[in-house]
Amino acid sequence: MTFSALGLSDELVRAVSERGYTEPTPIQAQAIPVVLSGGDLLAGAQTGTGKTAGFTLPILQRLTASAKPATGKAPIRALVLIPTRELAAQVEESVRDYGKYLKLTSMTMIGGVNINPQIQRLKSRVDILVATPGRLLDHLQQKTLDLSHIEILVLDEADRMLDMGFIRDIKKILAILPRQRQNLLFSATFSDEIKQLADGLLNKPAMIEVARRNATAELITQKIYPVDRERKRELLTHLIKEYNWHQVLVFTRTKHGANKLAEQLNKDDIPALAIHGNKSQAARTRALAEFKTGKLQVLVATDIAARGIDIIELPHVVNFEMPNVSEDYVHRIGRTGRAGSEGEASSLVCIDEHKLLWDIERLTKREIPVVQVPGFEPDPRIKAEPILNGQNRGQGGGRKQQGQGQGRGGQGQARTRAAPRTGSGPSRTNAATGKPAARAPASHRSGGYGR
Ligand code: AMP
Repeated sequence: MTFSALGLSDELVRAVSERGYTEPTPIQAQAIPVVLSGGDLLAGAQTGTGKTAGFTLPILQRLTASAKPATGKAPIRALVLIPTRELAAQVEESVRDYGKYLKLTSMTMIGGVNINPQIQRLKSRVDILVATPGRLLDHLQQKTLDLSHIEILVLDEADRMLDMGFIRDIKKILAILPRQRQNLLFSATFSDEIKQLADGLLNKPAMIEVARRNATAELITQKIYPVDRERKRELLTHLIKEYNWHQVLVFTRTKHGANKLAEQLNKDDIPALAIHGNKSQAARTRALAEFKTGKLQVLVATDIAARGIDIIELPHVVNFEMPNVSEDYVHRIGRTGRAGSEGEASSLVCIDEHKLLWDIERLTKREIPVVQVPGFEPDPRIKAEPILNGQNRGQGGGRKQQGQGQGRGGQGQARTRAAPRTGSGPSRTNAATGKPAARAPASHRSGGYGR
């Protein structure tokens, strides 16, 4: 299957081949013909599947086919709504890149930056607007934005948008769009809320779903490194130095934790920066740019801050702390091994996190191999403590707090759950030899790594 066979123009095919894409990904192969035909689309696809090109390429083609003369002011005809600023900036960059041989123009409209340059920009031609909902509403309120000629609407990462509490904003935006238009909705999951939104929005949509990353995770090597709570930073430094890891994306649960870890890594001579919702947009963009070029060895991020990170062949994702919400694990490790390249997702798990790990293994329906690094064996005398500091949820506004109190799991719960998952010996590997590790002492096994 080639991009030309999907009906894309020579200009678009040239742009994608220059990006190094040789063939369409499954979501592209299915979505492009649907969008080109003008129909509505409901697509189940996560970041990493190539979904951005899946909607951007056919939109560029459709808008070109019916383009008004390139001179003078023309109305905005396509609106792409995105939950986070980083992702919006990246999607718009893709629009520009894929459309570089076409005459269309695009614009990013995000919060956290001065609104005036955006108002200025809106005075010249914009064909495709890529926006986060909050700033878009600011413009509507100030009457600096006209959406009355929108022909195509994309809701990208719709599930995230709802998770982040944007439903009311989305409804306000939908209410002012022209009724006659093409609608494309992308979501990684299909909750009742998403189905409701899709029902109200889409007109006889084509439905496509590509394999979730947790079903296609063969390209991602997942490992659990058992370690004591207080020795995680030491182990992380050891792993980064020992295996010469570069471009390591590390997840922490809180903004404070992200800052602290970045500082400590710098003290260990590992260049690291933290990104999270408290940082200015400029600081986040700078950190991301340095990370992408490889100048910055480690980027420490909270879940929401990391949502928009899109780096090809990101080799290492580390869960310095396990996420409170199991789905976040899937999103986190989806940052590696993207679109066909291999990656490694390592989780540093202490005794407090066994219950979280158990939930993740249940969700992903797989047992993650345990690797014990010699010298970092957990001290069996240390007891599980509750995980109290899940405050970083504040970034997402109305985000659900499923994880509260889960840290209490610890030994007690893990022990009761160990029974069906025992006999997992072969997956326990010795880091030094690569061979199955000796069985842990009984007291350890009863901890069970959440099993
Ligand atoms: P997305 O799911 O849109 O965030 O895309 C994930 C990554 O895959 C991005 O880094 C894209 O540049 C890359 N990508 C998209 N389409 C293709 C393709 N057909 N072949 C190879 N890589 C691709």
